[in-house]
Amino acid sequence: MKICIDPGHGMSNRQTGIYDPGATHVENGFEFQEAAIALRYGLALKDVFRAQQVEVFMTRDDATDHTPVGSRASMAKAAGCDAFISLHLNDFDDDSANGLEVLFRDSDDKVLAQKLQDSLIKVTKMRDRKIKQRTDLAVLKFEGVAVLIELGFIANDNDRTKLLNAQMRDAITRTIAAVVTDHLSAV
Ligand SMILES: [Zn+2]
Repeated sequence: MKICIDPGHGMSNRQTGIYDPGATHVENGFEFQEAAIALRYGLALKDVFRAQQVEVFMTRDDATDHTPVGSRASMAKAAGCDAFISLHLNDFDDDSANGLEVLFRDSDDKVLAQKLQDSLIKVTKMRDRKIKQRTDLAVLKFEGVAVLIELGFIANDNDRTKLLNAQMRDAITRTIAAVVTDHLSAV
């Protein structure tokens, strides 16, 4: 079993040599960036998998890795991954929008998406925005198991505060790893 972890956005994501921070939100003069928070979650998730002797491939390890969004699925394929987990934060004009959702493309991945959704709602107590099928996202074109987790809304104070909490990050990454390994070993 080899898992690809894809922290959303980052260097050269949309345009070569340009850093894509993803969604941003300024609070008391500090700019929070989706790309940075997703990376922190990605690295934490890597540690959880590795502690369980599960092999991990990262589409990016830091803010300087050049990782075009259109090449991420094929990078994971070339690395021999069985599953692809993309991590993002949501954004909306209205700061009151909140909650967590898991996206999938292939109907075969609906069961895993639902398991992740249910388990993560239980752990985070965030609003359940339900799983959603998306056929237009490049990273979900990965040939194999693929899900994209929108962990919460960056501009929503409750969601963001939760996601920045180290204990919550620990609980979320442990939950993702447990659900994914359980699902893959049952297939
Ligand atoms: Zn994103």
